[in-house]
Amino acid sequence: MEYVDGDGWRMPKLGLGTWQNTGERCVETVRTALELGYRHVDTAQQYDNERAVGEGIARADVDREEVFLTTKVWRSNLEYEDVLSSVRGSLDRLDVEYVDLLLVHWPHPRVPVAETLDAMAELRREGSVAHVGVSNFTRSQLDAARRTADVPLIADQVLYHPYRDQSDLRRYCAANDVALTAYSPLARGDVLSDELLGRIGERYGKTAAQVALRWLVQQDGVVAIPKASSPDHLQQNLAVFEFSLTDEEMARIGDLRGPLGVRLRSRLPSLVRRLPF
Ligand code: NAP
Repeated sequence: MEYVDGDGWRMPKLGLGTWQNTGERCVETVRTALELGYRHVDTAQQYDNERAVGEGIARADVDREEVFLTTKVWRSNLEYEDVLSSVRGSLDRLDVEYVDLLLVHWPHPRVPVAETLDAMAELRREGSVAHVGVSNFTRSQLDAARRTADVPLIADQVLYHPYRDQSDLRRYCAANDVALTAYSPLARGDVLSDELLGRIGERYGKTAAQVALRWLVQQDGVVAIPKASSPDHLQQNLAVFEFSLTDEEMARIGDLRGPLGVRLRSRLPSLVRRLPF
């Protein structure tokens, strides 16, 4: 496993996404992933799977301390007292004493981010949360949040894949000790049939999905959290540390813009902020 190292924190560059994976299937996915070598699991209050994720961690033959566990506070829980009580609920469901990273899931138009981050700082002081960060924040929202926060914000988790340009945010994160965590790194499956990714993959005996993930984790400060539920996919995604792309391949992938439908869809999260993911 490779890591992004910051000032006082270290995050595995590949994590397991768990959105839309619930129940026993989720338990077994998390257990299998950890036993294959994953050390980073991403969940959220909104995913309805914190209990299953916790059970998967408990079942795996891996110490809790070795796992970098992230959860996210949903938009209805962003006021001070709601952060405290909802995160206690998360810890209860996950059956852990702390999470490694607690994120504000989406920016909120009415609840001041300072209020939410104050409560997260309180949880950090009491040891329930090791680190704090945000998700779906633009560069300017992240900058404003960092200025008001009493705690370092160590990550911004955003939509990032070969069809989505995040170079501006990435530069900002790299300059400010913030990890950029790429969610939907496979564009929810849209990259799988990409011709260029497929052709590059053939040179290394890898699939288009593996090339997309490699392109992400090969960038400084970038972490990827693909969701995978089959053991084959879990294993293939870990294998992205077995090869590297040339500078020219990195640049060509960075120039991909994707089919029109993908481009339109990949813009949705910034337009529709109430979708339940
Ligand atoms: P994704 O990771 O881009 O794509 C997941 C899809 O790719 C699944 O259908 C999976 O299939 C398939 N897949 C995985 N590995 C593969 C491989 N090696 N070859 C072929 N197919 C493969 O989509 P996502 O679930 O939207 O994003 C990942 C994670 O990011 C989420 O699970 C969640 O943890 C996080 N996320 C966060 C936010 C946010 O607002 N912060 C929003 C969306 C997502 P199988 O399941 O069958 O293996």
